Amino acid sequence: MYFIANWKMFGTIKSVNSLNKVISYSKTNKHKAKIVYCPPYTLLKSFVEKTKKTNIKIGAQDCHTQPNYGPYTGGISSKMIKDLGCKFIIIGHSETRAENNNKKINLKIKSALEEKLNIILCIGEKLVDKNKNKTKNVLKKQLLEGLKNLSNLNKVIIAYEPVWSIGTGIIPSENDLIKNIKFIKDTLKKSKNFTKSKVLYGGSVNPKNIKNLMRISNIDGFLIGGASTNEKIFIDIIRKSII
Ligand code: PEP
Repeated sequence: MYFIANWKMFGTIKSVNSLNKVISYSKTNKHKAKIVYCPPYTLLKSFVEKTKKTNIKIGAQDCHTQPNYGPYTGGISSKMIKDLGCKFIIIGHSETRAENNNKKINLKIKSALEEKLNIILCIGEKLVDKNKNKTKNVLKKQLLEGLKNLSNLNKVIIAYEPVWSIGTGIIPSENDLIKNIKFIKDTLKKSKNFTKSKVLYGGSVNPKNIKNLMRISNIDGFLIGGASTNEKIFIDIIRKSII
């Protein structure tokens, strides 16, 4: 099971110390949770150094569409992210989709694949889509356009994050989750011939709902935002995930 911490725009250099308990926990972590931290760009290097002799991996939260270098003020390429020692990258998070259409997301995935980074592609419907019964259409479009012309998907993990669930404390029903995750896996199998797909759930995961979420057998892990910035709460979530 993956437990991926998305710190969003949170933390200063001192926040590196808040990894201490998670590092100790990861060394005793009997059920071998795969822990990944995705802090802001400014903290990537210090997080990589802090977790050097551990099983914890570090990832970025986005990258530029262009590979390598170029005249793009403020841009960070996947090459630069790889150079820092990162192994993962989140692409297409709903909080970045206002500036990112599926075409741009596809280019970002391509550049990250060139650097052999593990990609966490976020997809998910808005409340208005859900209310109009358009969830499957949205998921299919985001998947197929985001992964267009990509054949080797072994380094791509999908994070199903309903937009209405992020930061709201509201999570989908067990039935909807099972159905939507199955739909994502089936779509990848049918249209991309990708059978080993890992699908995570993200949106308001916390120590109170993790046990129920763990009952959903087709979930391969979690992308955790707010709750992951507090190490005690993050460890509590991982601990409680052991059934
Ligand atoms: C996220 O932003 O990826 C996320 C899942 O946020 P939260 O856990 O705070 O809802």
